Amino acid sequence: MSPIDDPEKRKIARHHLLEKSVCRKCGALNPIRAKKCRRCKSKDLRLKKRELTK
Ligand SMILES: [Zn+2]
Repeated sequence: MSPIDDPEKRKIARHHLLEKSVCRKCGALNPIRAKKCRRCKSKDLRLKKRELTK
């Protein structure tokens, strides 16, 4: 069994994909743990959480 077949691991991977922070200044997507925008260096980031598709 390869790791990708593990339902728990797949769930975790998908969870990470959905958690991003978005720069309020330029709208760039940044990693969830980013302290500042990688594009414009603004610290005005907000969390972006998309709902899972049912
Ligand atoms: Zn920015």
